[in-house]
Amino acid sequence: MKRFTGAAVLMAVMMMVAVPAMAEQKKVRWKLAMTWGSTLTPLSDSGPILAKMVSDMTGGNFEIRAEGAEKHKAALGILDMVKGGQYEMGHTASYYWKGKDVTTTFFTTAPFDMTAPEQFGWYYHGGGLELMQQVYGKFDALSFPGGNTGVQMGGWFRKEITSLDDLKGLKMRIPGLAGEVFAKLGVNVTNIAPGELYTSLDRGTIDALEWVGPGMDIKMGFYKIAPYYYAGWHEPASELQFLVNKKAFEELPPEYQAILVTAMEAVRGRQVAANFDANAKAWQQMKAEYPDIKVMKFPEPVLQAMKKATDEVLEGYAAENAEFKEVYESRKAYFKVARPWTKISEQNYLSTSDAVIE
Ligand code: CA
Repeated sequence: MKRFTGAAVLMAVMMMVAVPAMAEQKKVRWKLAMTWGSTLTPLSDSGPILAKMVSDMTGGNFEIRAEGAEKHKAALGILDMVKGGQYEMGHTASYYWKGKDVTTTFFTTAPFDMTAPEQFGWYYHGGGLELMQQVYGKFDALSFPGGNTGVQMGGWFRKEITSLDDLKGLKMRIPGLAGEVFAKLGVNVTNIAPGELYTSLDRGTIDALEWVGPGMDIKMGFYKIAPYYYAGWHEPASELQFLVNKKAFEELPPEYQAILVTAMEAVRGRQVAANFDANAKAWQQMKAEYPDIKVMKFPEPVLQAMKKATDEVLEGYAAENAEFKEVYESRKAYFKVARPWTKISEQNYLSTSDAVIE
C-alpha cells in the first residue's frame, strides 16, 4: 500500500476533523423582500429560487425567507427596508430609487441605450459593477444584477401615432426618464396605480400606457382595448436588482458570502431566460387571440425628437450631478465599444437569416 503517501494520510485526517467543523456551521436566518407580489412570475421566482440554492449549498444552515409585496406591503420601499435592516436583502429594480438618487436609474436601463448583452458587458467588464457599489454605498447597501426583462415594448396606444402632433396632449402612463422625455414632447404624463390601469385605458382616462413586454402585459389585458403595440425605445435592457444590507453581508462567514454571490449570479441568468421565454410564449398566445394587434414603430421624426429630448434630459442631470455624469460618461464610452460589434454580429445575423427563414 505504498501509494498512501504522507499527503494522503494528512488529507484523510483533515477530512475526519472537517466533519465536526461542518456541524458547527453558523446558523443564519435572513429575510428577502420583493417588489413583486409572490405570484407575479417570472419576477417573483427570484426570491424562492435564490433561497433554495443558498439553503442547499449550506446544508440548511443559511436560510432566506422570501416575501412578496402582498406580505410586506411596501413594493417601492425595498431600499429603505434593506438600508434600515428590517430585511437583509431585496429583489427589485434600481430605477425605483430615482427620487432618492437619479443616478440609480442607470443601473436599470436608459432610453436609446445598451441592449442586455451590451449592458452585461458594461457591468462585468466596463466598470459598471464598481460604479454601482459606489452609488449604493451611500445607502449602506450592496447591489447586484438580478436578471433582465430584455427590450421592453413602447406601450399600448388606442390610436396610431403618425406625427409629433399626435403626441401633444396625449395622456399616457410612462414613468421614469422616459416620462420626462415624453413630457418634453407635450405628452400629458400621468402615474396610475397598476390595479387601475386597465380601467383607465378602457374609459379613456389615459390614451396609452407602457408596461413591460408580452410576458407581463398579457396578464393585464391591455391588448384587448388598445391595438397599437409600439416597439420599445425607452427601456432596452431593464436590469433587475438584488439589494443586500452591507453590514449584514459583512457579518456573514466568507463561505456564505461566496455562496450568496454565486446564487445571485445564477438567479440573474435564470431570470434572463425566464423573461425571454415568458415574452415569446405570451406574444404567440396574444397574437392568436387578437390577430388585429398591430406592432408599430414610431415614425422617424418622432424618434429623432425623442432622442434629442433624451439627450437633453440626461445632459441636464449630468450638468448638476457629478456622480450622474461619471456613470453617464462610463456608459457612453462602453456603448461606443459595444454597439459596432452588436451591429456586425447580432444585427447582421438577424437580417441575413431573415432572408431565408420565415
Ligand atoms: Ca416599463
